[in-house]
Amino acid sequence: MMGRMNEHKKSLRIRDIFQLEPKNQEVPVQGWIRTRRESKQNIFFEINDGSTLKGIQVVVDKENYGDLSSLESANNGAAVEVQGTLVASPGKNQRSELLAKPEGIHVVGDSPQENYPLQKKRHSFEFLREIAHLRPRTNTLGAVSRVRNTMSFAIHRFFQERGFQYIHTPIITASDAEGAGEMFQVTTLPISDLAKSGKSPDYQQDFFGRPSFLTVSGQLEAEIYALSMKNVYTFGPTFRAENSNTSRHLAEFWMIEPEMAFCDIDCNMDVAEDFIKFILKTTLEEREEDMNFFNQWIEKGILDSLQRVSESTFHRITYTEAIKALEDSGAKFDYPVSWGMDLQSEHEKYLTEVVYKGPVMVTDYPKEIKAFYMKLNDDEKTVGALDVLVPRLGEIIGGSQREHRKDVLIRRIQEMDLDPEDYWWYIDLRTYGTVPHSGFGLGFERVIQYVTGMQNIRDVIPFPRTVNSAEF
Ligand code: ATP
Ligand code: MN
Repeated sequence: MMGRMNEHKKSLRIRDIFQLEPKNQEVPVQGWIRTRRESKQNIFFEINDGSTLKGIQVVVDKENYGDLSSLESANNGAAVEVQGTLVASPGKNQRSELLAKPEGIHVVGDSPQENYPLQKKRHSFEFLREIAHLRPRTNTLGAVSRVRNTMSFAIHRFFQERGFQYIHTPIITASDAEGAGEMFQVTTLPISDLAKSGKSPDYQQDFFGRPSFLTVSGQLEAEIYALSMKNVYTFGPTFRAENSNTSRHLAEFWMIEPEMAFCDIDCNMDVAEDFIKFILKTTLEEREEDMNFFNQWIEKGILDSLQRVSESTFHRITYTEAIKALEDSGAKFDYPVSWGMDLQSEHEKYLTEVVYKGPVMVTDYPKEIKAFYMKLNDDEKTVGALDVLVPRLGEIIGGSQREHRKDVLIRRIQEMDLDPEDYWWYIDLRTYGTVPHSGFGLGFERVIQYVTGMQNIRDVIPFPRTVNSAEF
């Protein structure tokens, strides 16, 4: 058994085997059985190792295999090592297949057929979430996982190739970047004792000597590094105690946040546009098989739609122009349109799908509906906010040029009823070598939903955390 495990070094991933010219060469494979079929002469297995959507077919010639009883436990879900020879496949679905050598299949871990939860039928995504320890073995979750991996790497590549430094911003923080609540508190105070005693907590006794929370954004800290390294980005976990049960909100999700110094709102738009196009192109190129799967089974037409976005020039309009376009359209919305309101999903989709028929970047929103740190425009009414809207999804990126003028920043913090004391270091950064700078945030799971067409955000992250749900 130990000896056989050494095959790990020699065994090939199925993705690589499919690249080989089949000429009876010996090929070892390790993986899990997806399906088992039997005919008079043969047993057929489909083996998958997660490197491809479609597994490799392994064919057993019953007459010449030898002891067939060793294959009794080779059922769906079992882990196997196979010694076989690679031949051209007579079937039209695959180029090559493996002929098992006599007694060449070793069941490393069996899988009782009666109760293996993944039967050969379509399971609902709700059901699969209850068996998250097995769901990556399904076609859809496997494909999502590979796309997620490719996109992570593409994101790093985009920034690394352009000289951005990857910054690890803290997960525990004492500041609320959005000033919007929805934070998870982190504490070592004895909560149940406190509850019994009825006393209010003394935060000086807490671990950090003050209330602290899981981060909702790495932006403020990324700004610190941008003001010394020019171009930086974060890519890490983010937490929001979202009490809403929607198909687009998680309590724990991953966010990408670039931050650029000497960069105004136009520069911000240039980077955002290049960035979206780059990750779409890369995913379409590198995950062709998986993307075809999503196009066929999850969201028809998604390939065309992504291709078009990746090749289009993004429209650039102001919020004021967006409101005018919505008003002039005469269309009926659930939320009536007027200057000063926040754009709802229905408006965003209408702009990108009907009015502009492509990606739209909207800037200069009313200051009342945006965060304190966005740069106040000369009109004193709007701020240098930037939202990027795409068809099917609406907002994919939210960002802004940051307020770099110390006096204006303090004024804005006060106007928003926040305490400048809480942001002393953020303000201090504007004392020493302040400079126009910009950045944006992109929810990673939202982009994966956009690229795969998956309806529920719980199915594009390996282990979703939502209200009342933190299993696995
Ligand atoms: P929404 O209006 O959808 O709740 P938001 O305005 O709260 O989004 P931001 O605070 O701008 O979002 O956060 C930046 C990005 O993080 C969003 O554009 C979105 O892609 C993503 N995001 C925000 N909240 C969540 C969440 N709970 N789960 C997953 N992604 C999220
Ligand atoms: Mn939100």
